[in-house]
Amino acid sequence: MTMSVFSSIKKVFKPGQSRDFPNDLESLWMPFSANRHFKNNPRLISKAKGMYYYTPSGDKILDGVAGLWCCNAGHNREPIVEAIKKQAEELDFAPAFNMGHPKSFELSSRLSQLAPQGFNHVFFGNSGSEAVESALKIALSYWREKGQESKKILIGRNRGYHGTNFGGVSVGGMEKNRTQFNKFLPEVYHLSDTHNLEKNAYSKGQPNWGADLADELDLMIKKYGSENIAATIVEPVAGSTGVLIPPKNYLNKLKKICEENNILLIFDEVITGFGRLGKAFASEYFQITPDLICIAKAINSGTVPMGAVLVQDKIYDAFMNKDEKAIDLFHGYTYSAHPLACAASLATLKLYEDESLFERAQSLSKYWEEAVHSLKGTRNIIDIRNLGLIGAVELEPIDGKPTRRAYNVLCEAFNNQKTLLRVTGDIIALSPPLIISKNEIDQLIENLKITLEKTE
Ligand code: PLP
Repeated sequence: MTMSVFSSIKKVFKPGQSRDFPNDLESLWMPFSANRHFKNNPRLISKAKGMYYYTPSGDKILDGVAGLWCCNAGHNREPIVEAIKKQAEELDFAPAFNMGHPKSFELSSRLSQLAPQGFNHVFFGNSGSEAVESALKIALSYWREKGQESKKILIGRNRGYHGTNFGGVSVGGMEKNRTQFNKFLPEVYHLSDTHNLEKNAYSKGQPNWGADLADELDLMIKKYGSENIAATIVEPVAGSTGVLIPPKNYLNKLKKICEENNILLIFDEVITGFGRLGKAFASEYFQITPDLICIAKAINSGTVPMGAVLVQDKIYDAFMNKDEKAIDLFHGYTYSAHPLACAASLATLKLYEDESLFERAQSLSKYWEEAVHSLKGTRNIIDIRNLGLIGAVELEPIDGKPTRRAYNVLCEAFNNQKTLLRVTGDIIALSPPLIISKNEIDQLIENLKITLEKTE
């Protein structure tokens, strides 16, 4: 194996560059990756600036996905880098349990200002998965605090993605993320997903068909009883399962049913938060107020691991009823509200505001829509969809080899068209940094078109 690793590296890197990259790729077990294929055909990134990544051999790679839906302000932005440096010199770490540091409180206030009205509390973790886990625990324990202990059922949705921890995988609806393991939360049920190519292929923006799928929640309530259901969790726009745009009026219906039946609604905004749809949150974009909002990724433009739950007052207040010296929520992480992550986030939120990046995303969204849909008719495409600065291109799978075509597209785009894409199943997801220019949008779409034409 070692030989093949060295020889594959030689294929990619020029002589004399060996000090810039590791000479043994074997020890790292890469997440959600085809490890052996990667190690025989490495795709390394060693630098970034603005809209671009750079490989160790100096190739400039156009970032079509903000890293992994994270770097909404673009890469290595000076004010964020400076804030992290300064924070590291000033305070490296502070314990989060029964102790605090000023920036964690400052950031909570700032996020509350940005959030829809009523979300005046923030609970921090270190990732989207931890945000989801925290939200589910808050929802379950909320009903216990209210004396309604029978409310234990959680409702998720097929093709939902809520990270990789046991709670998130349980409410999520990706079979592959479950089948390698065997223990999950009991009492979880799933709504149908809203993806339907027959009805909605090539929709621009929100599809017309599908709002009635929300009525399944009513059926579940009839079957299991609202007195037994704690919460429903959905992504306003599902990203990781291939960009599923909610049909018009679907989310409003879910909200109405939850409200009428005393069921908490959790929006997982890990990818939609911080300007992706041209507003701070999808909740604002769709004008729907859930009870809990999960955020991460672009909270600090992907620079330091951080996730959080935005919590409505009524929920927080329900926990503040005990002896003042008693712990109110038995949950948290060593690195909750880590000083470096908080400093990075405060600088990022300021940059979003100073450069009006959410408004920029909104003003680019029509141009983006036309650009993405201009790919219609290109080889192997069976659907194109978009919302805000999100786009997706669905490909006809290769017979008997689902996911292979999109993976080939990912490799061709990176190796030869110098473009970073994200693929999931046979779907190519696009979510560029919000600083992207119209010329760069054209370039991204052109690179994708050439890639598709060259890929089997
Ligand atoms: N929730 C959603 C909607 C996501 O898209 C993701 C990641 O893509 C997660 C949760 C998990 O986030 P993380 O990978 O930071 O744990």
